Amino acid sequence: PFDVLVIGGGPAGAAAAIYAARKGIRTGVVAERFGGQVLDTMGIENFISVSHTEGPKLAAQLEQHVRDYEVDIMNLQTASALIPGEAGGLHEVKLASGASLKAKSIILSTGARWRQMGAPGEEMYRNKGVAYCPHCDGPLYKGKRTAVIGGGNSGVEAAIDLAGIVAHVTLIEYDNQLRADAVLQAKLRSLPNVTIITSALTTEVLGDGEKVTGLQYQDRTTEELHQVDLEGIFVQIGLVPNTEWLQGPLALSGRGEIEIDAHGATNLPGVFAAGDVTTVPYKQIIVAMGEGTKAALSAFDYLIRS
Ligand code: FAD
Repeated sequence: PFDVLVIGGGPAGAAAAIYAARKGIRTGVVAERFGGQVLDTMGIENFISVSHTEGPKLAAQLEQHVRDYEVDIMNLQTASALIPGEAGGLHEVKLASGASLKAKSIILSTGARWRQMGAPGEEMYRNKGVAYCPHCDGPLYKGKRTAVIGGGNSGVEAAIDLAGIVAHVTLIEYDNQLRADAVLQAKLRSLPNVTIITSALTTEVLGDGEKVTGLQYQDRTTEELHQVDLEGIFVQIGLVPNTEWLQGPLALSGRGEIEIDAHGATNLPGVFAAGDVTTVPYKQIIVAMGEGTKAALSAFDYLIRS
């Protein structure tokens, strides 16, 4: 059996594997797609100490760094069930392939995915005007016109954040009112360069073949179609944690995130979790790496005590 079995090969899982392997313990990583969301990212400018890099390049470097150590990487494998053991006993992870792996401790780092609108043009213009992370891509739209799709807390926070950087923000909400906290709504309404449109369904992302030039929405009361000219669209309609396979005794939050404490421990002894799949606030590469590190050191601490 493994001493530490990491499920997920994004920044959190890679950091966890490296820290575990450096303790000289038997470490394995199961990943559906090594690199995770980083593979879908173009420019990365907030990975501190690296002014600029690109997703596929960083993903390759993550994998190379893990391969510097004796880590058993099982890429292109999907975990389908976790069967927790007794405290101090062995946990089992079943794979979709039918195989089963056993480990004294587990680190869950299966990440998350941004919910998409599903509107025509969204996929085509992803990273070419369609963005999901204002902390990451906001500065690229300095002085430009943008929209934020979604009037929940994350959408309204994104709109407030962007309003300080871009020329103009149009916030589009499907419902007939915003769902964000009142204090955020008040802040948003106080900003001069923000327009709020409610009861609106985004029907299409418009572009010139190269990049976004606008969006089309339908007024849900009159059913009329309208067009907004702009350069960027931030979709903020939810980040979905990859925990569908983890139903059972593992404690999840109302949003399906794995609940962890400050040490990355879950409610199950010997089972730790890190990164976007957890309740940790702020989903970023550098945060996920720090969290993976904490989970690995906590797993090591657990192993020497049991
Ligand atoms: P992920 O990167 O999501 O990795 C999860 C891993 O788990 C993957 O290997 C996946 O294949 C695997 N997995 C999932 N389910 C299973 C399963 N059942 N079995 C086995 N393996 C599984 N952050 C920044 O800091 N800066 C940026 O500029 C930036 N830009 C971004 C741009 C885009 C388009 C996106 C989508 C995200 C961006 N982010 C950025 C966010 C950043 O990518 C994430 O915060 C980070 O990747 C989270 O790392 P993670 O390891 O927790 O999860």
